[in-house]
Amino acid sequence: MAEYDFDVLVIGAGPGGYVAAIRAAQLGLKTACAESRETLGGTCLNVGCIPSKALLHASELFEEAAHGTLAKWGVKTGNVELDLGTMHASRLESIKGLTGGIEFLFKKNKVEWLKGRAAFESADTVKVGDRTVRAKNIVIATGSSVTPLPGVEVDQQRIVDSTGALEFAEVPQHLVVIGGGVIGLELGSVWRRLGAKVTVVEFLDQILPGMDAEVRKESNKIFKKQGFELKLGTKVTGAKAGGDGVMLTVEPAAGGAAETIEASHVLVSIGRRPNTDGLGLDKIGLELNKRGQIDVDHSFKTKVAGVWAIGDVTPGPMLAHKAEDEGLAVADNIAGHTGIVNEDVIPSVVYTMPEIAGVGLTEEQAREHGEVKVGKFPMLANSRAKTNKEPDGFVKIIADAKTDRVLGVWIISTLAGTMIAQAAQAMEFGATSEDIALTCHAHPTHSEALKEAAMAVTGKPIHI
Ligand code: FAD
Ligand code: NAD
Repeated sequence: MAEYDFDVLVIGAGPGGYVAAIRAAQLGLKTACAESRETLGGTCLNVGCIPSKALLHASELFEEAAHGTLAKWGVKTGNVELDLGTMHASRLESIKGLTGGIEFLFKKNKVEWLKGRAAFESADTVKVGDRTVRAKNIVIATGSSVTPLPGVEVDQQRIVDSTGALEFAEVPQHLVVIGGGVIGLELGSVWRRLGAKVTVVEFLDQILPGMDAEVRKESNKIFKKQGFELKLGTKVTGAKAGGDGVMLTVEPAAGGAAETIEASHVLVSIGRRPNTDGLGLDKIGLELNKRGQIDVDHSFKTKVAGVWAIGDVTPGPMLAHKAEDEGLAVADNIAGHTGIVNEDVIPSVVYTMPEIAGVGLTEEQAREHGEVKVGKFPMLANSRAKTNKEPDGFVKIIADAKTDRVLGVWIISTLAGTMIAQAAQAMEFGATSEDIALTCHAHPTHSEALKEAAMAVTGKPIHI
């Protein structure tokens, strides 16, 4: 009998875990992946990236038809009606197709799916359901879940988290979103487009913390123009759900008079926290850091030999593509190759309309490191965006004043999520703003705004 059942056991089949398992198997390692959900794909495929994007896409189409955008192009749609049941069915169809796809890839690559919750017995032994297995290497990829807000109890009916907000059976009359971050603005956008009044209550004095200050300010303007009510610098102190609504108590974050807000529904989206409960980390002597995360070194090793960790359960942005890249790298490292993730160049995208994207340093962060040059170009001056009637936003490039090396790129544009890939690649290759300015960009494309912003770094854009 072999000493170990597996060379690699991955705990969790989200974008981090399933990618790590498939790559480990591709590298010739005998691999299993433990997952307690009924389907593979983790938060991202089941209740995160994919279902939210399905609803964002569908609600965009609805809004274009219902609010006259299509009509402006001469596409008459007559009386537009919402069939929410079909919209939800389409969302579920996307989830089914993609999670089933991961199951197919597991079979194709001979990754064994151990169904059930996994808990450590020792550093190389894990119990999954009724089965106990030994593995030479164990990768913790257990992801994250919603951070609860004391005094605001999620019942998934009137007071929901992101999972509940993907499943409203009818359009809320007045949705109050607690937290003006990515989830609040994306899911708030979905329900606003479908007819809800949306109020966002944000503790800080601006939405979208972590992003470039100018981008946050401009986004705030755009969301207000779209009809969002934004209550900044405000904290929720309690919520009482009744038969037909929720009464929220809020007060200024800095202290002051309380007021009440009546909502039909409330979305709690104040962040996510790592999943480590019940994992038996105490049995292997693995301690969490102050933020409840598992610390790793650059090769994704934890402090316990043979135990690795990746994705949302570790420090860094909680993003699917960060988890995936770490999944590839950890498998390479386990197999004796060199797996690296450049944590300084991880793009992030908010999939609202327009999209908001960034990679690298904000202008504020860059200025802390030294002198910078900034080039900006408005989408209004980009011929394609203007023609498409998509004038909102800009591209902003921040470069080192001495070396011209690009330190950060920020974009608000309908296609920002796609455009940011070019910026990430340029930064990964150590590009200067001049490199981007001298790269031929196809015309007419939104991406030309990147070239113009790069030309603006030296003060010589053509179209403004
Ligand atoms: P997860 O995807 O959370 O997967 C972890 C898996 O481990 C889960 O399936 C869980 O069931 C399983 N698990 C946990 N503990 C155990 C155990 N003890 N035993 C067995 N199994 C266990 N990111 C983006 O990049 N782009 C987006 O557009 C985006 N949209 C999002 C929208 C929403 C509404 C939400 C909530 C998140 C979104 N995210 C998005 C974030 C993204 O989903 C996460 O960053 C990503 O899923 C993290 O991957 P992971 O593999 O670390 O963990
Ligand atoms: P977030 O960290 O993006 O935003 C949370 C917001 O809530 C912040 O603005 C914060 O200041 C605010 N907040 C915190 N406590 C509050 C309180 N008591 N009252 C009012 N406001 C409060 O978190 P999220 O939107 O819940 O998303 C969680 C994670 O999921 C994020 O890390 C994000 O990276 C990931 N995600 C990514 C995408 C994407 O990539 N498009 C989409 C959805 C989620």
